[in-house]
Amino acid sequence: MTAANANRGFVVPESMQAWVLGNPDELTLVRKPVPQPGDAEVLVRIGAIAVCGTDLEVIRHGHPALIQGGQPFNKNFTPGHEYMGTVAGLGPGVDEYDIGDRVAVEIHAGCGRCERCREGMYTACLNYGMNYGDHDKGHRANGFTTDGGFAEYAVNNINTLVHVPGDMGDEEATLIVTAGTAMYGLDVIGGLIAGQSVVVMGPGPIGLMGVAVAKALGAQPVILTGTRADARRLGIGRQLGADHVVNVHEEDAIAAVRRITRGKGCHYVLECSGAPGALNDAARMLSRGGRICLAAFAQEPVPVDVAYLVSNNIYVFGIRGEGRSATHRAAALMAQKRFNAGLIHTHTFGLEEVPTAIRYARDRIDDAIKVVVKMAC
Ligand SMILES: [Zn+2]
Ligand SMILES: [Zn+2]
Repeated sequence: MTAANANRGFVVPESMQAWVLGNPDELTLVRKPVPQPGDAEVLVRIGAIAVCGTDLEVIRHGHPALIQGGQPFNKNFTPGHEYMGTVAGLGPGVDEYDIGDRVAVEIHAGCGRCERCREGMYTACLNYGMNYGDHDKGHRANGFTTDGGFAEYAVNNINTLVHVPGDMGDEEATLIVTAGTAMYGLDVIGGLIAGQSVVVMGPGPIGLMGVAVAKALGAQPVILTGTRADARRLGIGRQLGADHVVNVHEEDAIAAVRRITRGKGCHYVLECSGAPGALNDAARMLSRGGRICLAAFAQEPVPVDVAYLVSNNIYVFGIRGEGRSATHRAAALMAQKRFNAGLIHTHTFGLEEVPTAIRYARDRIDDAIKVVVKMAC
């Protein structure tokens, strides 16, 4: 890399604006040093970041963030994980990316040295949060165990980056990782092929991306169920390719799936609602031998009809985040314009308005689905 290439118009300041988490639900905009990329890392100048339901959890309850072995409060920690931006600096020896490349990110780099990371399951890293003091295994999950993206800059491992096509807007690019999570869910249930039936439960961001990805992979029919009387979300589900949408306030979801599949039940269920009865309902939507992927969780333990699962040979899987490079496969579908992820982006705010953005996402103000914070250029 030449010296001229090293800046290419990018002047990286010494300090930056960043939101940090104080007590629960307390975010403050401060100045922090711009982080330095290490081996196999780049510095990303953040262009836009989407607010995720998990951000709301972290900011209010701490979990699943883990900073210095404990709760993330009052540790100068910057949350936020669904961002995109431009490569503004390269760690030593990095030639996989160039300064000026537009990139979107995965959240988890993992540690790269444990059994699960070696298997590509870096979202289930065995050294989660082990990146401090004598415990330092180098784990990275931005916005969870390392600083995230409600800031002007962040450092990312090269394995967490994916190129963003020139004709894709910043806001849509923040949704690549959301689509990657849906893709990972369909990956783990395995062998989704054209012509097989998929039910997606819950029209939140991951559920809606689940519809889009399943359809792009040729699934048929794709059925979306909604527990809220939310015409907007179900309507967007249709635009993203759902063959049928079921408003459970109007029709029993299990009966609807049985009707649509002519009594056979479906091949797969992607459970994105977190409703207490979701697993039992999902099992009854499936044909025998069908598969469920749980991508959302209930707020408390729920009873499960194990006898039904066993006697019908139902397989149950769970995912955390976006493993096995699923984000790359989702990004490829989006680059080919197989679906318009931008349909779920509803609101945009500036960096100084992060608390407002979070309030819109949390309270679903004005029917908010995906709220994006966009940096001023
Ligand atoms: Zn997220
Ligand atoms: Zn690991």
